[in-house]
Amino acid sequence: MTYDVIVIGCGPGGEAAVVEAAEQGLRVALVEARELGGTCLNRGCIPTKTLIHTADVVRELKNGKIHGLSAEPKVDYPALKARKEEVVEGLRKGIEAEIKAGKIDLYVGEASLRDAHTVVVNEEELEAPSVILATGSVPAIPPIPGSNLHGVVTSDDILEQVRPYQQLVIIGGGVIGVEIAGVYEALGTQVTIIEALDRLLPGLEVELGRSLATVLKKRGVDVHCAAKVSAIEEADGALCVRFEEKGTEQVVRAEGVLIATGRRANTSLVGDLPVEMHRGRVLTDSCGRTSIPGLYAIGDIADGYPQLAHTAAAMGVNAVCAITKQTPKRNMSLIPSIVYTSPEIGSIGLTEAEAVEHGKEVVVGKANTFSNARSVIAESERGFVKIVAEKTSGKLLGAVFMCERATDLIHEMEIVIAAGMTVSDLLMNIQGHPTFSEVIVRALEAALKKLAQ
Ligand code: NAD
Repeated sequence: MTYDVIVIGCGPGGEAAVVEAAEQGLRVALVEARELGGTCLNRGCIPTKTLIHTADVVRELKNGKIHGLSAEPKVDYPALKARKEEVVEGLRKGIEAEIKAGKIDLYVGEASLRDAHTVVVNEEELEAPSVILATGSVPAIPPIPGSNLHGVVTSDDILEQVRPYQQLVIIGGGVIGVEIAGVYEALGTQVTIIEALDRLLPGLEVELGRSLATVLKKRGVDVHCAAKVSAIEEADGALCVRFEEKGTEQVVRAEGVLIATGRRANTSLVGDLPVEMHRGRVLTDSCGRTSIPGLYAIGDIADGYPQLAHTAAAMGVNAVCAITKQTPKRNMSLIPSIVYTSPEIGSIGLTEAEAVEHGKEVVVGKANTFSNARSVIAESERGFVKIVAEKTSGKLLGAVFMCERATDLIHEMEIVIAAGMTVSDLLMNIQGHPTFSEVIVRALEAALKKLAQ
């Protein structure tokens, strides 16, 4: 069979690519070996956020007295698992409908590449001038002795099982580590996080990880940073995680251990093709073009971009634009980071440190949420908003939010930065009262004062 484009992998990247290609009138084949939706839908974002929703409800109920309620939450794990599956299956049906509506030929099976333009699936040969690899990633397991013991799990396993734990040790305080910690802490598990670097969420602005550690510790999570795990052992029916912190060896016992130390790109398909790679990922431009003409790589397998569902989807759209020789539809230079902790975290553009590194003179406006009326009413955890603006022009360069609804509110800042708006431009607009977003206004006012100095 011959197509205009063949897409391998139906995670958010592959899905966006086939839908865009079909909309642009291309003849499209999609090859997927597992369930439609990839990691995000089946083993990542969606199951996690479903559990996080329950965790948030539990927290609200535990806080009920403050809001004039009395209820004692009891977690029904089989029901929680069923809810997660219901959400996933419902969304998967949506993808099936899109594929049908786009008249996309779906091949269910493991693809291999005969060359950059020939895909083999179930012994059938498919050909196209353009092939998009969207094969995603799998959890990376560090070489820690004992990491193959029964009870040591990855995010794939923990999100599949949805089971209770008395104690859970999480190795890795990155995005997966802190999100899962928040779920299990709320559900009543004694959680320990062991992070190799000096703070949680080391990929994000310094204050975010440090503030999050304070919040988690207050809720009873045992947080160890700059700690090196040496081994996981089994003793008396429990798992013992040995680690060194500040020169002292410590051991923590737990029913389960989650390894959340990053994800490895699934590049096995590339095989012997002479495609340029970097750090185990395929080297591409912002449209997924690889070093081989007609071969594209998008999402988690592409080097240089964060491994995020929305990055993959944006690259999928851009790859199709490259194939049809159109201007890219997505701006890959401004990618939001959002973390579903409580409070939520959002980050966009440059941090103060990054702006200074780029040689820019900046001012930082910061506001805490403690006097924000909606946060007071909701009895929200104390958070903050920080915005970075260029001193000479007043233009917004970046923002970090740690507050209620940060994962949604951060997109306001994305639009503002993309539009090249200044602090004064933004302050011209009237914010509704009382809203969580008023804290952004306080941060802008703080920045304006510094701009005027
Ligand atoms: P990550 O890179 O975010 O975090 C991994 C953490 O593990 C890092 O902080 C690292 O320093 C630490 N680490 C590595 N080796 C260690 C060791 N031996 N001992 C202790 N700590 C160690 O990776 P992740 O949390 O596994 O997530 C994988 C990918 O999925 C990331 O790219 C992430 O952005 C993405 N993701 C995104 C979201 C979201 O956007 N909300 C949610 C989940 C996952």
